[in-house]
Amino acid sequence: MMDENKKNMSSDEMDDVCEECKTAFESVRANLVMHGYKICDSCKLSKTVFPI
Ligand SMILES: [Zn+2]
Repeated sequence: MMDENKKNMSSDEMDDVCEECKTAFESVRANLVMHGYKICDSCKLSKTVFPI
């Protein structure tokens, strides 16, 4: 039997860590795929919304 789940567990967890706030979120991986940035939704918002 293949053991892919165990093998990939640690790397998958690291892929969920936001590069901005260093916190793991499920949204980080989705944003990485969609936008190419390893950031969570909160950091994405702060980058997208321009401070006045
Ligand atoms: Zn973040």
